[in-house]
Amino acid sequence: MASFRRSAFLFILIYFFTFCTWIFIFRENDWMRFLGTNIFSMIGSMVSFIWLFQTYQVTTTKYRYFWLLLSIGALFYTAAYSICFYYQNILSIALPYPSWADILWLATYSIYLIAFIYRAKLMLNSVSIRPFIFNIVLFMIIVVALSLQYIIEPICEISGNSISYTLVTLAYPIFDLGFLLVAISLYYLSQCRDQKIFFLVIFTGFIIQIIGDLLYVYYSLNNTSAVGYFIDPFWQIPLLLKGLAGLYSQEHQKETNSTSPHYVKSNYSIFLYVSVIFLLLLIIYKNYHHIDFLIIGFSLTVLLIIVRQLSIMKKNEKLMEEYKYLAYHDPLTSLYNRSKFNVDIQEVLNQAKSNGNMAALLVIDLDRFKGVNDTLGHYIGDELLKEFSQRIQTVLQERGIVYRIGGDEFLILLPQITDMSLILTVVESILKGSSKPFSIKGNKLVITPSIGISIYPEQGEDAELLLKNADAAMYLAKEKGKNNFQLYNPTIHNLLFRKMNIENGLRGAIEKNQFSLHYQPKVDMRTGKMVGTEALLRWEHPELGIVSPAEFIPVAEETGQIVSIGEWVLKTACEQIKKWQTAGLPLIYLSVNVSVRQFQQNDFIQMVRNILQETHLDAHFLELEITESIIQNLKQSTEILYDLRVLGVRTSIDDFGTGYSSLYALKTLPVDVIKLDKSFIDDLNDPANQAIVKAITEIGTSLNLQVIAEGIEEEQQVKMLLKHNCRYGQGYLFGRPVPAKEFEKHLLNNRNFV
Ligand code: C2E
Ligand code: MG
Ligand code: MG
Repeated sequence: MASFRRSAFLFILIYFFTFCTWIFIFRENDWMRFLGTNIFSMIGSMVSFIWLFQTYQVTTTKYRYFWLLLSIGALFYTAAYSICFYYQNILSIALPYPSWADILWLATYSIYLIAFIYRAKLMLNSVSIRPFIFNIVLFMIIVVALSLQYIIEPICEISGNSISYTLVTLAYPIFDLGFLLVAISLYYLSQCRDQKIFFLVIFTGFIIQIIGDLLYVYYSLNNTSAVGYFIDPFWQIPLLLKGLAGLYSQEHQKETNSTSPHYVKSNYSIFLYVSVIFLLLLIIYKNYHHIDFLIIGFSLTVLLIIVRQLSIMKKNEKLMEEYKYLAYHDPLTSLYNRSKFNVDIQEVLNQAKSNGNMAALLVIDLDRFKGVNDTLGHYIGDELLKEFSQRIQTVLQERGIVYRIGGDEFLILLPQITDMSLILTVVESILKGSSKPFSIKGNKLVITPSIGISIYPEQGEDAELLLKNADAAMYLAKEKGKNNFQLYNPTIHNLLFRKMNIENGLRGAIEKNQFSLHYQPKVDMRTGKMVGTEALLRWEHPELGIVSPAEFIPVAEETGQIVSIGEWVLKTACEQIKKWQTAGLPLIYLSVNVSVRQFQQNDFIQMVRNILQETHLDAHFLELEITESIIQNLKQSTEILYDLRVLGVRTSIDDFGTGYSSLYALKTLPVDVIKLDKSFIDDLNDPANQAIVKAITEIGTSLNLQVIAEGIEEEQQVKMLLKHNCRYGQGYLFGRPVPAKEFEKHLLNNRNFV
């Protein structure tokens, strides 16, 4: 393609040279000279047409029609020269002036102007095209006014030509000036180097064309025949250069497809204003008292400037409104955004300060919103956010202002508060309002909020502190099981800090040997003999000291660290029991706690099997304690429990009776043991608790399950439990959880626990 372009350039040079030579050789022979002019011009414009039309056909970008318009222009040129040929070489008469050829030429000029303005429109965005066209029109009015006043009228007076004759003649350079202006602007607008080269080619063409047109005007107005001399090659070159630019752009479609992001500063508008002032000065200088072209031109210019200024002002106003809306609103929910919050909170705090009132800030975060996005997709997530926004606006009414400041995070500002009751009613209405399921595209979704509250001035005197504290309170609400609200208090930070410390500390705790196991006896209360032991995890944090498993296990579950920790517990406990068995100590079974997250790992069964193999412990000595929450994933859990049964491992439901699905769980899950929760044992004097213990023991026995009571601390409890046929027990009464070394004493003594 590049070589073709080079050949095309060479063609233009040879063409120009031979054209000029022809005219020079036949400068004395009119017919022959006209023949050359017309044939050369027809060939030139036809070649240009072919190049441009081809460019139109291969161009796939938005600039296609620009090339089509240029090619039509070239076709008009060919037609104009056919008319010349008809008159000058067939009829052998002079071309009438102005003729159809002139109309075609002027039509070509108009098409070119339209093509370039169209191209400018594509390069600019729609906002800025109007001032651009306006500037061109304004510029041309000034040129026309000046030419009418100083060139056309005087020339008409001298030459005796009609105004229409002179006007047609002068239309060419006037158009040229328009082109020049458009071409210069496009050159400025073009961003990449290739586009600049492209416009430079076209621009050079315009310069040559202007020279040609000026020569033409000069000859025409002096009544000298201009057509048919050296001007014609000058007209053909720009045409061919346009064709060349077309060839060039075929190759650089991508580069020339870019759009100018904004209207490049219009330097030439200064030139416009200078022209207007120049016109004004001329009027003053000439001290005109009658209306003439200058006054008309000047008035039109001023009028246009005023119209433009007004339209710009109106547009700016509209734009400002749009920008303001966009700047202060969240596009998804149409709620106010963070920027608006920053503005509002300052105002609210200033007002509260001067009135001595309180103001409250609520931070709302949706619970498990990420899950909705991940499982149902972002579209449903977005719809849910919209519905939720509408609902809080409805429940809030006029009591406060809602903002969306990020994904699923909202703020509510309650500006005028005299007592706490308003905050509580608002919070409760939000919690209640969101408790009803949302129906989105056939999905019934329940999404709950966690709300943190901070109050001015008690919990923060400035916006930043209020937001920080409300945020901390919201985190606490999440910690406390979500779907609730928390009011900020200074200890929150300590709590959150401790949690963070635990989370960080858990990482690497295994490698640093910070974990150990304690063992607590499980006793047959009828015989008083120990039958088993529960392994309970202990963690010694370097700064926090001993941390309770009740505190760190939930954190480990949240972060997933429980998987490796749990594996360590199982392995260590199995090794220990095996060690005792090998040492000939009494055989007891081992219970190990397993968290839900661990239990539902794909390789859980494999992990248990591996550990049993590695430690050589007989599977019948192992019991895994799980909580009834595994019922949430009934099918999978049942399968795992069956697999464990096949392995020979026993399973028990820990803390039985605390969940709402206990009895259902019993019926469905293939487990071997029920561990009656400590809360029932604590107050066995309460007849209700006695009834529960009795019922559970009966059901358990009838289902062939072992029932064991947890947290036994007093003799009295043992008696009661035995009375209700609960045979097994665990608790401080028989022994606290102790390190392996100490537990060994229980085994060695083989003492009676009851
Ligand atoms: P759990 O499995 O229900 O364990 C019984 C808890 O009750 C133990 O607390 C034990 O020390 C305590 N306990 C036993 N008898 C009595 C008593 O007579 N009175 C009182 N007040 N408490 C008694 P611990 O060791 O603090 O463990 C708390 C919970 O942490 C365990 O409850 C269990 O859910 C979890 N946990 C402990 N170790 C592990 C583990 O290795 N893995 C997993 N996933 N969870 C564990
Ligand atoms: Mg347990
Ligand atoms: Mg328990």
